Amino acid sequence: EVRVRFAPSPTGPLHIGGVRTALYNYLLARKLGGKMLLRIEDTDQNRFVPGAEQYIMDSLRWCGIEIDEGIEQGGPHAPYRQSERKPMYRQYADQLLKDGFAYYAFDTPEDLDAMRARLTAAKVPNPQYNSITRAQMRNSLTLPAEETEQLLAAGTPYVIRLKVPRKEEVRFQDLIRGWVVVHSSAIDDKVLMKSDGMPTYHLANIVDDHLMEITHVIRGEEWLPSAPLHVLLYRYLGWEDTMPQFAHLPLLLKPDGTGKLSKRDGDKLGFPVFPLEFHGTDAQTGEPTVSSGYREAGYLPEAFINFLAFLGWNPGTTQELFTMDELIENFSIERVSKSPARFDQNKVRWYNEQYLRAKPDAELAQYLLEDLTAQGRDVPADKAEQIVALVKERATFPADLAREAQLFFERPSSYDEQVISKKWNASVAAALAEFATQLSTAPDASPDAIKALLTQVVEAQGLKIGQVLQALRVAVTGAAAGPDLMHIMHILGAQETAERIQAAVA
Ligand code: GLU
Repeated sequence: EVRVRFAPSPTGPLHIGGVRTALYNYLLARKLGGKMLLRIEDTDQNRFVPGAEQYIMDSLRWCGIEIDEGIEQGGPHAPYRQSERKPMYRQYADQLLKDGFAYYAFDTPEDLDAMRARLTAAKVPNPQYNSITRAQMRNSLTLPAEETEQLLAAGTPYVIRLKVPRKEEVRFQDLIRGWVVVHSSAIDDKVLMKSDGMPTYHLANIVDDHLMEITHVIRGEEWLPSAPLHVLLYRYLGWEDTMPQFAHLPLLLKPDGTGKLSKRDGDKLGFPVFPLEFHGTDAQTGEPTVSSGYREAGYLPEAFINFLAFLGWNPGTTQELFTMDELIENFSIERVSKSPARFDQNKVRWYNEQYLRAKPDAELAQYLLEDLTAQGRDVPADKAEQIVALVKERATFPADLAREAQLFFERPSSYDEQVISKKWNASVAAALAEFATQLSTAPDASPDAIKALLTQVVEAQGLKIGQVLQALRVAVTGAAAGPDLMHIMHILGAQETAERIQAAVA
């Protein structure tokens, strides 16, 4: 059985890169009939942000990403929050100590600083605690056994570090990148257990993936450097046979391609980078902060998801619109790209337009009616439906419907000056006045009938319809452009249209 997990740390709102990771995991799980887990990785309590966990779950729910096992759902491997699993990790650290794959380190922060300073002074490019430098430090590999015993018995603070071999090639096959080979000299002796008894991300992550029987680890590229270390941990814990397959997803770049899309980019670049609005506090000042979200900006979850799926994956065809079910059917890790994906805010708007405009008019009318009710307007549902059918082609977000609909509820307060100066003259005004009079006698005329009437009146006055259309539009709506004018007049009704024209020619 395929089992995948999304394993966020609750350190703040979920970034769209994180949502994409969750989405790809979910698509694979559903495609292969497997299970999707949500595991909260909260071992780093200094970085814990209140509300982040709830935010993550709300975001996934809004996106339609369903969780089979997790902190809300429970499941055979509960608990799914690492802070509640704390007692489970120690035995694996002990096993590594016993088997000689890990060691105690008693170095104080000052010792570590001094080591780094020494290495930096010696121009060592990337100072590490590793197979070479550990020889000069205070740990159970360098101290006599009795001294280690004494230090432990005296309660001296320590961490447990992984003993990374000096000369070894660590290799694994990534489903997206192919063979990844890293020399062990590039890996440092990572801390597995902190002095407070909490495991680090690395230990907890591997232990949980093993215990939770995870088959595929699909995560962002930023975790690729950690993967060789994880491979070593699987080996040293004796779990190599059931090691999950790895797939590291390509980076998400800023729209201009100049680097990784960061959590701060949204507010700088003027588009959301979070699925939902997030209310937090500024780490420095303690002031409340609000980060904008796709939901609040008027994006539909199906558009957001479709857009996200294409940031790093494509179906190999020209089809761009995919429902979640279609994504599930068509998704494969093989079609995930190695190269970074550039975020494109025009594309996500385009997706929203497609999904919004494809909705039934009755559903769009609900958005409009909600906004109109909030404005204190009481509009019949069938009229709202007529309006949305006409204006939806000009809408990207639900709120655009009400904006485009204003012309039906407010008479023009000014007239487009360009049109007035170019198209308005005495004979045009006279023709429009005559049209208004005749229209009043045809209260239920269809858009086609209105057009026929207009043509007839205008031609009787020796003009062509093309000479009056712009002026008529400005007389009725005030603006130089907008939806189909015959439909506008039809929805407004003969009486209201005639009064607007009369007001304009007066
Ligand atoms: N807790 C890690 C994160 O915040 C999980 C990385 C992984 O999937 O292994 O992204």
